[in-house]
Amino acid sequence: MNLILLGPPGAGKGTQAKRLEDQYGIAQISTGDMLRAEVKSGSEIGLTAKAIMERGELVPDEVITAMLAARVSRPDAARGFILDGFPRTEPQAAALDRMLTDKGLRLDHVIELKVDDGALVERIAGRFTCASCGTGYHDIFKPTAKAGVCDVCGGTEFTRRADDNAETVAARLVAYHRQTAPLLPYYDAQGKLRGVDGMASMDEVARQIGVILSGKA
Ligand code: AMP
Repeated sequence: MNLILLGPPGAGKGTQAKRLEDQYGIAQISTGDMLRAEVKSGSEIGLTAKAIMERGELVPDEVITAMLAARVSRPDAARGFILDGFPRTEPQAAALDRMLTDKGLRLDHVIELKVDDGALVERIAGRFTCASCGTGYHDIFKPTAKAGVCDVCGGTEFTRRADDNAETVAARLVAYHRQTAPLLPYYDAQGKLRGVDGMASMDEVARQIGVILSGKA
């Protein structure tokens, strides 16, 4: 099964993609996570991407598409994948279509997480992640059970993304509406687009996605 999760920053794509990865044994492919790893390692791609990401703009299509093509060819993606944060532009969507055709694969669903822009800044500004196991938390919506200790692995170090601040979030939302939202009619025309209520609880969003994947929506 090959899926795309579409929606603005903070819509919950990463959270849902991780759940789907666990549930269906298919690979979560987050181009944002891949770029953050490149930045951390100081690679050439990382050096190009760092300033662009800090401005909340999009990394050039050629860079992202090449990175994605290599990732999709890895063995863990053979059973299927959930694309989280890709495609973000029409050229990326066209490149993905070509890539899938070349590999004899098809896209099963494109799931839009629908959310109000007003809720996103608050959602994003409180996000933090366990530095050891990568579990995601939120100051208000999903704090750790014990302050400063990861519920999953007991780690005590946490990280916050450099681009999760109000100013950069505003730029990321502009990029979403200008460059990524036009993909909604693109996939609707292919008959692949399904929507879920991204304002609902994480469990309810997961339930709605489950209904779509079981073919009942
Ligand atoms: P994300 O983690 O998906 O919110 O992505 C964080 C940042 O990485 C974005 O604001 C962009 O600067 C960059 N990025 C991630 N995915 C893409 C993509 N598919 N195309 C261009 N830039 C991307």
